[in-house]
Amino acid sequence: MTVVETYPTLDQAARAMGGDAAFLGGGTLVMRAVNEGVAPARLIRVTGPGLSELRVSGDSVRIGAGVTMADVLASRDLEFLHPVARVIGGPQVRNMATVAGNLFAAHPFGDFAAALLALDARVIGAGQGGARPVADVLRDRARAGLVAAIEVPRPRDPKAFGFLKVSRVKPRGVSILSIAAYLPREGGRIRGARVAFGAMGPVPLRSSGAERALEGQSLGAAAIDSAASAATEGLDPPTDEIASAWYRKEVAGVHLKRLLTDMERR
Ligand SMILES: Cc1cc2nc3c(=O)[nH]c(=O)nc-3n(C[C@H](O)[C@H](O)[C@H](O)COP(=O)(O)OP(=O)(O)OC[C@H]3O[C@@H](n4cnc5c(N)ncnc54)[C@H](O)[C@@H]3O)c2cc1C
Repeated sequence: MTVVETYPTLDQAARAMGGDAAFLGGGTLVMRAVNEGVAPARLIRVTGPGLSELRVSGDSVRIGAGVTMADVLASRDLEFLHPVARVIGGPQVRNMATVAGNLFAAHPFGDFAAALLALDARVIGAGQGGARPVADVLRDRARAGLVAAIEVPRPRDPKAFGFLKVSRVKPRGVSILSIAAYLPREGGRIRGARVAFGAMGPVPLRSSGAERALEGQSLGAAAIDSAASAATEGLDPPTDEIASAWYRKEVAGVHLKRLLTDMERR
């Protein structure tokens, strides 16, 4: 049997975590586990409003862990993330699914986390003060602790960020893969390229091959072809009911080329 414990603040909830407990976000995955009888014995939830806060300060926006995909879509400050939130599940899922929950969603989920990775977002833990790169949390999710918020740098040029989800069922099927690219430019050259794939590994991962091919280049046919060829270097995608590892590796470069070509034309 699963027991739900409710706390008024995140700090109290953080103290209650540990052992056989899991945090209950929007519950789109946790409640499924409850229905299937495989949920942890204790679910910890928070009632305070702080978790759903969205705060813009300077060049970044702090997204409370409990902000849902529907909240993202309702925010003008998060317009650059609309193409990502829009393709996560159907309306019912988007109304409940939280941004923090997406960091912990098992493969092939994690489309939003891939975007956060490309944008170099930082994760703020409950009661731990400092912020960690989202990549650190994804690397060791079991020990990530309770997430309070996510700090996302807002792209100075929104056209520098692009996202593509590839699925068999459009528009809301589960990902064969997803791609997020952040390609800021200085004097026409890409400086600080970040390309992340969802569903191309156990968690969202960056494509070092594509980033290397794009860095310092202008976004044109030659750089796009090189990035597409190097896209899956070092990546070892899983096989699942959606697609085989072989298929994912075959098509990743093709879809990266489509995304980058689309970004070039903006
Ligand atoms: C029908 C369906 C379709 C879906 N489609 C997609 C899709 O297209 N793309 C996609 O990426 N995902 C998809 N998902 C997966 C899921 O809905 C999302 O990833 C969602 O963002 C998970 O958030 P949640 O708040 O519902 O998580 P929950 O179910 O509440 O929790 C999921 C995990 O995250 C942990 N967690 C939640 N909040 C925190 C926190 N603040 N701190 C620490 N741990 C936390 C929980 O303990 C649990 O381990 C889909 C799910 C369903 C059921």
